[in-house]
Amino acid sequence: MKLANSIKELHHIIKAVRREGDSIGFVPTMGALHNGHLALVKRSKLENNICVCSIFVNPTQFNNPEDLKKYPRQMEQDIRLLESVNCDIVFIPETEEMYPNGEPEILFHFGELEKVMEGADRPGHFQGVGTIVKKLFDIVEPHRAYFGNKDYQQLLIIKSLTQQYKLSPKIIGCDIVRENDGLAMSSRNQRLSSIQRSEAPHIYSVLKAAKQQQLDVESLKLWVAQKINTNSLMELSYFEISDAETLKSIIKWDKNQRAMGFIVVNMGEIRLIDNIELNI
Ligand code: AMP
Repeated sequence: MKLANSIKELHHIIKAVRREGDSIGFVPTMGALHNGHLALVKRSKLENNICVCSIFVNPTQFNNPEDLKKYPRQMEQDIRLLESVNCDIVFIPETEEMYPNGEPEILFHFGELEKVMEGADRPGHFQGVGTIVKKLFDIVEPHRAYFGNKDYQQLLIIKSLTQQYKLSPKIIGCDIVRENDGLAMSSRNQRLSSIQRSEAPHIYSVLKAAKQQQLDVESLKLWVAQKINTNSLMELSYFEISDAETLKSIIKWDKNQRAMGFIVVNMGEIRLIDNIELNI
């Protein structure tokens, strides 16, 4: 695996290893890698000749400075993990190179998509995501880019970004990778205390049980809220039932509409995010 710490180095490496017609698959990450990230790399390896993975803790997508400060960083282990899945190139840029003028330059318009859920809870978050993903796409010029369904709203935002700016990569959403006990893998999980970690699988258990309930939409929301809040270590930030394409709130079940349940639960200062398809 080749390592690039600057855009110039990255371009140099790509030029050296890429043969004519080779496709590039790209996996952007913020590091502290786990099997969820590695699944994206493996998929990219299957579908492309060259896999580039970036590790960059993007400051502009953090609305909480404390969260940015405490975001786990473990570069050596990340490099070993990427090597273990035969990633070809890892791009680890400096903040100064990604943001030479300090702040983001473009104001993105994602409409309703950025007004709900994570957009409403974390002001500016998707502007930061749009800024960094567009920059990375412009630098890496991938044919395909891989994102996890765990951050489903982010995936839709990136699809919208790609359409609006006519960016070339095909955006590929990949299944959520879970721990054996059902907890969605996340870099933030390692910040859970052992008691929080042992309770955290409750979130996915509730989502799975929600799928089995025969309740109207509003009653199901209340049911989930009640189930989460009975756990004294958890505080529900939101549970939304929304259309899988537009993220508009669903008021009434409709067989022709793909409904998803989106949840964020706070355990102490850790925010855990998950989702489930409801009507399949
Ligand atoms: P992050 O490093 O958290 O910014 O995540 C980088 C990419 O990995 C994003 O596209 C995430 O959606 C994806 N990802 C994170 N956790 C998981 C998971 N448990 N399963 C699948 N994809 C994931």
